[in-house]
Amino acid sequence: MHKYSKNLNKVIYRASIVNPINSSRCSFYKDGGLLIDNGVIEEVNCFDNVLKNASPDVPVIELNGVISPGFVDVHLHWVQYKVKGLYSGELLTWLRESIWPEESHYVDVELATSAARNFYDDLLRAGTVMGLSYSSPHAHATQIAIDLMRGDWVVGNVLMGINAPNYLTDFSLHDSDTLKAFMSNIDLRHYAVTPRFAPNLSQFQLKALGEIAIDSGVIIQTHLAESREEVEWVRKLFPEADNYTDVYDRAGLLGRKTVLGHCIEMSDSEWRCLAERGCWVAHCPTSNEALGNRRMPLEKLREYNIPYALATDIGAGPSHSMLHVLQRFLSLHRDAGVNIDHEDALYRATLAGAEAMGRGLIAGNLCAGKRADFILLPGMGPRDHWAGWLEDCISGSMSELETRPLGTWLGGKKVS
Ligand SMILES: [Zn+2]
Repeated sequence: MHKYSKNLNKVIYRASIVNPINSSRCSFYKDGGLLIDNGVIEEVNCFDNVLKNASPDVPVIELNGVISPGFVDVHLHWVQYKVKGLYSGELLTWLRESIWPEESHYVDVELATSAARNFYDDLLRAGTVMGLSYSSPHAHATQIAIDLMRGDWVVGNVLMGINAPNYLTDFSLHDSDTLKAFMSNIDLRHYAVTPRFAPNLSQFQLKALGEIAIDSGVIIQTHLAESREEVEWVRKLFPEADNYTDVYDRAGLLGRKTVLGHCIEMSDSEWRCLAERGCWVAHCPTSNEALGNRRMPLEKLREYNIPYALATDIGAGPSHSMLHVLQRFLSLHRDAGVNIDHEDALYRATLAGAEAMGRGLIAGNLCAGKRADFILLPGMGPRDHWAGWLEDCISGSMSELETRPLGTWLGGKKVS
């Protein structure tokens, strides 16, 4: 009796399995088995081996498709989800005329609550199970995004004290004492100190935020060098700094827990600085394309060995689908003559993101001891190699890709 009851929470899923291991390796099992015990992965292998090692009373569920780890999106603005892809144009005009007015609506608790529910539902449907998210400046909107989260998210209210409309800056918590008080009531595993970008804070304010982030050990997320106009503005606002990156470096905001969105208009000394500090880059190819920014120089990231992960950057990015991001990521860089292996691409949309969030040991791919967050994608048909299957999986229109996953599981439980 005892022998049977201890296996009550175990289950084996049988399907093809792709499992990114690092930027150059991906395991593939045509007939794979995924043994889960109480929401945690116990074994991943070919089905026969998993079955042989498991006790005979563990149920087997056959799935028709390919199991992959769920996607991780390391840069998006959940409060821009409703207007994703609706506006385009030069970054600063886009912010002032479209995005900032939209974020001001999140002063409304009911609106924020229903928007958060809708956001998490849609992301799970698209196969995204984790990520780093920017909120509006309002304290309650961040609290709502954390309280209602489905999956594993880190959220930060954007901190913006200057060079923005009062209808946003009046709600910002960038003052040190105010921010510390807010953080003392929040689960810091799910919180990131989030200066919106350098132009919205003074050097003094940025430095104070750097100190708070270091003291509390939380993730820091912000934007860096997304457009030429922005870089030029920063140069005028911070004449004492060597460059945009130096503004953050002087404030103590650059380290291994820092995730920087975009990094397009960068000099070699700035790349070197990011490498020395161990910062992560959130690469958002669909957003860069939508706002007419240049291609992010992937060659430079590689040259300086800077870690990076992929992201949608909703709402500049037109879609919340990481399959869509993968499609444009491969296409944009390949068109520029920069090759990307399939192993690398899948890693950047999954495990790399979990590593950027400091969760590489507990999530991001399918390994014993990790949380069983996975998705089911359509089957391989007659294909023998998973690389061709991945190309099939990421082809199609944006709306097709948003609903391509056949199912999403969090901690072993089917949630979409
Ligand atoms: Zn952004």
